[in-house]
Amino acid sequence: MTIFTDNRLLASGLIGGTLSRHRGNMQEVAAQQPVYQDLSIPPEKILHFHQTHSDTIVPVLTEQDARRVQQAPVQDADAWLLAVTGWGAAIQTADCVPLFLWDENARVFALAHCGWRGVVKRLPFKTAQALKQAGAAGTMYGWLGPHIQVCCFEVQEDVAAQFSPTSLHHKNGKIFVNLNLEILRQLEEAGLNPQEIKTPYYCTCGDKENFFSWRRDHIRQNLLSFIYKP
Ligand SMILES: [Zn+2]
Repeated sequence: MTIFTDNRLLASGLIGGTLSRHRGNMQEVAAQQPVYQDLSIPPEKILHFHQTHSDTIVPVLTEQDARRVQQAPVQDADAWLLAVTGWGAAIQTADCVPLFLWDENARVFALAHCGWRGVVKRLPFKTAQALKQAGAAGTMYGWLGPHIQVCCFEVQEDVAAQFSPTSLHHKNGKIFVNLNLEILRQLEEAGLNPQEIKTPYYCTCGDKENFFSWRRDHIRQNLLSFIYKP
């Protein structure tokens, strides 16, 4: 099993990252269970929601919050904000950005599903702000998991118009969006130090060996990203 992750995340005491496609399509929660078991994570302690490209953030700040989310019907949302031990959360992507945020001692941590619509709705900024409001202390860290990079993310004028011109790349009469730049700007605006945000260049669309990509294949197959505090 290959998990793309950030050593700083693991060093802070969290377990998490984005799985390569080798374990299969993770769209169904049932398909994810063996992954958690392999990592000695109780599968029932990983929370799930239904993603809608919104800017809705689910706060899980207490054990009661966690149990309520676990027992309630699956809700619509696109970001998790956690401050509990022994719990975690999952998202699914296939070109969208899995955005991981956490504070110095991993007391507060977040995982957001940021497609271009979520980015335009400023979900990265709002998630980072929520992290601070939940009491993030010390250095705040960010890591952007594998997603569609500027090499492949061609858009039409209507989509391009919703981004800052500095996040656009023009080549051979085509327009491409650089989601990394846009998200970096939002996180910096929320008070993160850009030097603490890592944006490794893994392109889901360009790397068929490792990743599913909606843009490339037009098949509903999803990669799993998760974060968990033991
Ligand atoms: Zn690419």
